[in-house]
Amino acid sequence: MRFPLSLTRAMTGYIVRQRLAGRKRFPLVLMLEPLHACNLTCTGCGRIREYAGTIKEKLTVEECLQAVDECGAPVVSICGGEPMIYAEIESLVAQILQRRKHVYLCTNGMFIRRKLHGFMPTSRFFFNVHLDGMEQTHDKLVERAGVFNEAVEGIKAAKQAGFLVCTNTTIYRETDMHEIAVLLRFLRELGVDGFMLSPAYPYAAVHQTNPHAAREIFLTRAEVHEKFRQARTLLRGLKLNTSPVYLEFLRGERTLRCAAWASPTRNVRGWKGPCYLITDRHYRRYQDLLEQTDWESLGQGNDPRCEDCMVHCGFEPAAVLGVNRRLGDALKMALWQLT
Ligand code: SF4
Repeated sequence: MRFPLSLTRAMTGYIVRQRLAGRKRFPLVLMLEPLHACNLTCTGCGRIREYAGTIKEKLTVEECLQAVDECGAPVVSICGGEPMIYAEIESLVAQILQRRKHVYLCTNGMFIRRKLHGFMPTSRFFFNVHLDGMEQTHDKLVERAGVFNEAVEGIKAAKQAGFLVCTNTTIYRETDMHEIAVLLRFLRELGVDGFMLSPAYPYAAVHQTNPHAAREIFLTRAEVHEKFRQARTLLRGLKLNTSPVYLEFLRGERTLRCAAWASPTRNVRGWKGPCYLITDRHYRRYQDLLEQTDWESLGQGNDPRCEDCMVHCGFEPAAVLGVNRRLGDALKMALWQLT
């Protein structure tokens, strides 16, 4: 199976309950950012730029747990910043797991070896290591030598200790898809349990603070299609955690309507709205974000900021929830999860 049975079961049961309750919009994955501080300064990162003024602030464990309870999503993706430098990360993960959630701990991998002893392996917990290429490419993108090798050592240690590990790879304008195929095959040899891919996040903050860099690294919609068409044969046989419906969207074979409401972001300033990438305001409560955002005014053709966005946290939930369902999609998604 592509995901642990517990995750498939929890997600399916949750979606059925929400539909039976007549809810049109509901969260699937909480993007929890306990802090924005990071040990790296990656070229394409919007967070260290947008939140430079609050970079030293962090949520307390209680505030994080309150967000988890308030939102109710079955999956919590702990991101940031670098969450492994959050001093109470082990306790936070343990307490979210106690709430029977599934947790993805998104990390650059630099501290896995040092902090591994603080975590317990379970089918509801994944280390999600960010790797954007083989050694030379990755270290250039994160602007520091040695990061790739330390992340790889972290992955090896985590796998040896019995943890689930997946990786998350961002596709930039300069990304060579042949290299991505090499990277994923290398990671498969290390026992990595699944691979997520997403086109680069066209952060509004990077566009505003460094428009030149933004033009260099972020892809247009047509370029995303081209990269992912190329990837079709190159990545065949690899255990992608990227769904077939989302991949069809990335290749330009279908449309999908953004479902950013399904992946809300909670950070030190509140519930970030409207989405992970663009900020109009921060809300005090998740319900306020949900009810006060004009969701129909977002997406391609409605908001120029969405024009080239095909990011996974906006569109993968749309694929999972069948927002623009086509005949055969349900079967396609079921087969993908079972294989
Ligand atoms: S398309 Fe969705 S996820 Fe992307 S920028 Fe617009 S609202 Fe955000």
